[in-house]
Amino acid sequence: MASNTSMVLNDATAADPASAGAAPDISVVIPVYHERENLPDLVARVGEALGVTRWTFELICVDDGSRDGSAALLADLARTRPWLRPVALARNYGQSTALQAGFERARGRYIVTLDGDLQNDPLDIPALIERLESDPDVDMISGWRHQRQDKALSRRLPSMLANRLISWATDVRLHDYGCALKAYRREIIERLHLYGELHRFIPSLAREVGARIVEVPVRHHARTRGQSKYGIDRTFRVILDLVLIVFFLRYRQRPLHAFGGLGLWLLAPGALILLYLLGVKLAGEDIGARPLLLAGVMMVLMGVQLIVAGLIGELLVRIYHEGSARPQYHTRALPAPDAGERQP
Ligand code: UDP
Ligand code: MG
Repeated sequence: MASNTSMVLNDATAADPASAGAAPDISVVIPVYHERENLPDLVARVGEALGVTRWTFELICVDDGSRDGSAALLADLARTRPWLRPVALARNYGQSTALQAGFERARGRYIVTLDGDLQNDPLDIPALIERLESDPDVDMISGWRHQRQDKALSRRLPSMLANRLISWATDVRLHDYGCALKAYRREIIERLHLYGELHRFIPSLAREVGARIVEVPVRHHARTRGQSKYGIDRTFRVILDLVLIVFFLRYRQRPLHAFGGLGLWLLAPGALILLYLLGVKLAGEDIGARPLLLAGVMMVLMGVQLIVAGLIGELLVRIYHEGSARPQYHTRALPAPDAGERQP
């Protein structure tokens, strides 16, 4: 992707001999922002967790414009570890873009994400890969922090609300949408395009592109070093994002159903009110100063405007689909004939 080449200052892909060899089985992608104190342990633990398995792996650490020397430290750690491939973004773009940059460089058949602060445990990775390898009916595994080690009020409560809302708005039923530890088949990652704050909604987006998702309990540790980048102020922004994404997921294909539905609910009673007043007027009464007249006129006007907004939305959807280079659907390999009874 051309626009992304310009945002990378230092990219291991071109020169690094590690990327020249055969593609590894697993690519672990970790966004890193001011995590210097965590990096040595993080890299060591990923190496230990995956070094003893039968799979080959690479660890792509995407430095998201840290100013604490994280990038230099990563470069240093990579000198003695051929499987470590650091990438440094030109500035701080946010977690979603950092993940996307890592995804675009990942070469593995399986792609795993986790956070750089050791709240997720690399020792959980092999079990996730084992599941993907043994279960052809699963394309993505989402971690479930069943014993989440974060503050209740500022972190766990908003996530709980978010989890409820997303699960209502989409057909993905998970306990914990926000767990960073996730494992995917490569095809799913290739179909996603993350930017802004979209990393929060990956399960829903993955479902949209056909992923079959399961949830597996994973370990979760409290952050011991460095600071969380997300505080209560972010929570409010996330709530706004949620409104947008819920609307987007539910009504993206039919904006008329959202706006137009609301519009009809205003237009119909508004029109009835005006009809009633017309009747009164025809019966010879004076309706000059009635607040009901004002309400009726307002409701009709707002209703019409909402329906028009819905129609414009429909137009945008059509134009998008006509002119879009993004595929409208994805296919999957047919199951082997003897595995036929697996299918529902
Ligand atoms: N992160 C990032 N860019 C940002 C903010 C965060 O790459 O602008 C990384 C951060 O280094 C960590 C992950 O995203 O690896 C999640 O961030 P954090 O642990 O602060 O979030 P929390 O666990 O508190 O939700
Ligand atoms: Mg964290």
